[in-house]
Formats: sequence, structure tokens, C-alpha cells
Amino acid sequence: MKKKAIFLDRDGVLNNEKDNYYVFRVEDFFLNDGIGETLKVLSNQGFIFIVITNQGGIAKRLYSSNDVEAVHNKLYSLLKSYNVRIEEIYYCPHHSDVGNCLCRKPKNLNIEKAIARFNIDRDKSWFVGDRESDIEAGKLSGLKTIKVTANEDMSYLREIIRKRTV
Ligand SMILES: [Mg+2]
Ligand SMILES: [Zn+2]
Repeated sequence: MKKKAIFLDRDGVLNNEKDNYYVFRVEDFFLNDGIGETLKVLSNQGFIFIVITNQGGIAKRLYSSNDVEAVHNKLYSLLKSYNVRIEEIYYCPHHSDVGNCLCRKPKNLNIEKAIARFNIDRDKSWFVGDRESDIEAGKLSGLKTIKVTANEDMSYLREIIRKRTV
């Protein structure tokens, strides 16, 4: 059976990026309020979670993929304390200042990879992001979309998804 998924942008949605445009230090990485509890509720409803993030700072040589992976290990472990599992984190290491690719949002290659790999039902799945490029990428893949306000308490997500999923 196909799975229903919630695709999540990282910076601004899962973690607070208020004081850092590029979050690449483990010590700067903190979950937004309400996100752990909210994902737990949604996972009990049968959703799986995939993170899709642009990390163009790698192409700009501001930080390395090792830095990104260290941050992602912290993300996995913070969410584990809420008993929440992320299936996979797909990140685009490219930047349009440096060259073109098919995976930097608003492009949707990484979403399509996840849909194929995890056998995801587009009609029952969502993309949650804080920028227009997130929403555009989600729509390209035929997902329902939610644009949140960055860095805020994410508890209201469960209500939106509940109301629009019935
Ligand atoms: Mg963001
Ligand atoms: Zn890319």
C-alpha cells in the first residue's frame, strides 16, 4: 500500500533560524516549539516524514557536507526524544550563483526521489515550508501545501492537516 507522507522544509520549519541565515553549527540548531509533539501526533495518524532542504552554503563553501550531516544527526536525535522518526533527509548542496541543478527548491527532484523510494501517495501527502520556493516545489510534485510562518510554534499544523484530510 502507498504511504502518506509529510515533506518538511528544515530551516524555519523544524528548527529556528532567526539569528542565522545559514544554520550549520550543531550549537545553533534548535527545534521550533511544538514541532516534536506535533510530528508525534501526525505519526500516530500514519504519516511518514521526509525532510527536503536547500543547503546552498555548501556550493558557496561557507560550510561542508560534514557540517550538514552533523546538524542532521542532532536533528535525528532531538526528534528521537519525541519518538519521531525521519525516514530521510534530502539536501541540495548546490546554489544558483554557482551552477544549475534539478534538486534546489523550487525544483523538485529530491521530492520525486522520495516519492519513488518510499512509495508515497501524492494525493494524501503534504509539503510544509516557510517560503514560496517550498510551496512551488510541493505543487510541482502534486502535493498539498502549507506555508507556515518561520520560527514559530508549529502546533497548529496538526489542526490544519486534520481539517483538510477528512
Ligand atoms: Mg525554510
Ligand atoms: Zn541541487
